[in-house]
Amino acid sequence: MTSARCEVCPHACRLVPGSLGACRARGNVNGRVLPLAYGRLTSIAIDPVEKKPLALWKPGSTILSVGGYGCNLRCPWCQNASISQVGESEVAWRSVLPEELALLAAQAHESDARMVGVAYTYNEPLVCWEYVRDAALFVREAGLANALVSAGCVNRKVAEEVAPLLDAANIDLKSIRAGTYASLGGDLRATQRTIEILACEPGCHLEVTTLVVPGVNDTPEEMEELSLWLASVDPSIVLHVSRFFPAWRKTDVGPTPVATVYALAEVARSNLRHVFTGNC
Ligand code: SF4
Repeated sequence: MTSARCEVCPHACRLVPGSLGACRARGNVNGRVLPLAYGRLTSIAIDPVEKKPLALWKPGSTILSVGGYGCNLRCPWCQNASISQVGESEVAWRSVLPEELALLAAQAHESDARMVGVAYTYNEPLVCWEYVRDAALFVREAGLANALVSAGCVNRKVAEEVAPLLDAANIDLKSIRAGTYASLGGDLRATQRTIEILACEPGCHLEVTTLVVPGVNDTPEEMEELSLWLASVDPSIVLHVSRFFPAWRKTDVGPTPVATVYALAEVARSNLRHVFTGNC
């Protein structure tokens, strides 16, 4: 049997034919790793861009938001575990090819000009980055915009392939500690590199979200370090400091105190120009 290694993210899953990667979106078919979740959408909705969240990109507009299934991280507090932590047989999906998605977006734009494009979101879009790439090309051809909402934990090639097709992105920066990332099944350096690549992409407006989880990343020292690193990339990057609510496997602590979120946002404001609080 020919095993093959997936090169999309730092997990570098080595897969034997018929097996799935840790993300459950990719698998080995006849010796090749393929994006099995390509075009399989579990969620499709028109959302305000502020909900992505994108605070300083086309405010007041809406966006056709689509997600599939699968994720390469295992954050215990995932709000979307019902689609991110499952495979194809555990969730309802329908196939929407890139051309069809662009057509849906164009129709939505025709009936409401405030609807500006497509957001790839809800689960981790980049485990099926080929779909993002292909759909984004059609969406752009239709004169509409592409936005990515992602944890950004992918290898350089994937980030570089997708970046030029994006008009906006919100990337999670879950912590500035490598150990915290490792405990979530992620990789800090890969995430930082994706942020750096998107920050250098002239056509892409970049925002970053940090969910403040009690006992995980809620100290002023960590927020100081995180915001200083972001400022070293570009002090005009927008940061959302967001409030945690218990979800999925993280129910042993209550929501982050609002006062903590506000205090950490103040810390971040000493290093960054645009800091917003979320879920407060
Ligand atoms: S994208 Fe999925 S299959 Fe590929 S290395 Fe990452 S977790 Fe493994």
